[in-house]
Amino acid sequence: MSVIIFADQSEGHIKKAALEALSYGAALARSLQTTATAVVLGPISNDVAAGLGKFGVSKVLLASSDAFTHLDGQVFAEAIAQAATAENAQVVVFPHNPDGKSVAPRVAVRLKAGLVTGAIDLPDLSGGGFVVRKNVFSGKAFAYVTIKSPIKVISLNPNSFHVQEGDGKAEVVAFQPTVAAPRVKVTAVNKVSGEVPLSEAEIVVSGGRGLKGPENWGLVEDLAKVLGAATACSRPVADAHWRPHHEHVGQTGLTIRPNLYIAIGISGAIQHLAGVNGSKVIVVINKDPEAPFFKAADYGIVGDAFEVVPKFTEAVKKL
Ligand code: FAD
Repeated sequence: MSVIIFADQSEGHIKKAALEALSYGAALARSLQTTATAVVLGPISNDVAAGLGKFGVSKVLLASSDAFTHLDGQVFAEAIAQAATAENAQVVVFPHNPDGKSVAPRVAVRLKAGLVTGAIDLPDLSGGGFVVRKNVFSGKAFAYVTIKSPIKVISLNPNSFHVQEGDGKAEVVAFQPTVAAPRVKVTAVNKVSGEVPLSEAEIVVSGGRGLKGPENWGLVEDLAKVLGAATACSRPVADAHWRPHHEHVGQTGLTIRPNLYIAIGISGAIQHLAGVNGSKVIVVINKDPEAPFFKAADYGIVGDAFEVVPKFTEAVKKL
């Protein structure tokens, strides 16, 4: 029996959401009195792989074949299912990021395993059960889901579990799953360069329709730059093409859980809150004191963004 964790990588680096999943899987393995093994698909160095021991795994199965250069849900699922079988896995953990969302359900089908997506903390194992808590109804309620199948698959919501870093080193084992050739050929990758990836950012500065137009986005970008933050926006802003759609957060966009979310000129509609209300600290800048976002805010500034934000940016620069 063991716990295995899919540690997804990008350009040789393990993603932050995957480090959280590793820490989560390692903690779960300790509770189950078993071992934790990471599965890495794609080109990463042996040193990076061995370094995953710091996050509590004792072994890393490393498959660095070209077949894993780009995500292919079916190919990745087949490889991870084979790893789970080889390791006699009782639980398979994924980060609940785009890669994990694509692969976890396919692995669950292959292993005939019960699946809970978007877990927010460790399962309750009392009385021999396996009860996983997750958010439902846009974060307005919790669901407690019991997995009864012998093998369990869980995806962990990003920013729900702290990365726990020690000083261990993992044994790296070359892993060569038998997989079909990818059915999809990736011909180009368009990168969003020079920005902190939104889903991994600790701080996010976000703008809404209150900013009046794309020509005013310098306000958001300047504040984001001094804070080392990623930028985001409300849906109407993306729909109006003021900002690209990959920045849109909310019910129909990305769900983020940064340590600090600064909302500028955003009303705080429920569909927007659904994507950001897991943030640790929320700061709202809005000229309307009745804006619903103030109810969800930890700190609020009632004022005109065009006056407040430049002062905010200057103040941060002086820190
Ligand atoms: P507005 O509602 O127009 O609010 C602008 C705010 O800016 C106001 O509060 C105003 O007081 C303030 N303001 C104006 N001028 C200034 C100034 N000078 N200084 C400071 N403040 C100022 N929305 C999302 O964001 N994400 C989603 O994923 C999403 N999904 C949806 C799904 C469905 C099915 C539906 C029906 C809607 C969805 N929406 C989503 C839309 C959502 O309901 C809101 O319409 C949207 O979030 C409002 O965007 P906004 O706050 O930028 O704009």
